[in-house]
Amino acid sequence: MEADGVSGFLREKRFKTRSVAGTLAMGERVAEILLPAPKLIVLRGDLGTGKTTLVKGIAAALGAASEEDVTSPTFTLVHEYVGPKVRLYHLDLYRLETERELSTVGLEEMAEAPDALVLVEWGEKFASVVERADGEIVIEHLGGDERSFLIRVGR
Ligand code: ADP
Ligand code: MG
Repeated sequence: MEADGVSGFLREKRFKTRSVAGTLAMGERVAEILLPAPKLIVLRGDLGTGKTTLVKGIAAALGAASEEDVTSPTFTLVHEYVGPKVRLYHLDLYRLETERELSTVGLEEMAEAPDALVLVEWGEKFASVVERADGEIVIEHLGGDERSFLIRVGR
């Protein structure tokens, strides 16, 4: 996978939502597309497009956490939620600048767990993350509360 987006993914699916509730509800269908674990997925999209909101929906669908319990890991960098089938790691690399800083986060170890679903906001900032990724979700703000989601998995 390259930062610009690349063809050749095995599965590609597009969704649109018109509300936060719509994005949360979509989490179930997205979770089905992302499984089976282990996978590392980059969530791409500007601030406020809905990356964290989507993770809430995915976590709830997987029984790993309730929507309210999923909060942005902007300052903590990583949150971990354990569900019956999946260990969900939610990362936000917005505040990291260098591969050296990233190396302290332990992303490789997380991604090695057989039940790991690693969802990385701002992962496209780092070549090492892009190279390691199994897929990406590209989110765009279409105006108002409308958002588009392009899910590509499995190269
Ligand atoms: P990000 O993690 O990409 O910065 P968040 O999920 O934290 O974004 O925030 C998304 C923001 O957009 C929230 O303020 C939310 O209320 C708003 N929003 C409006 N419409 C939608 C939608 N359809 N899906 C997701 N979030 C939406
Ligand atoms: Mg976020």
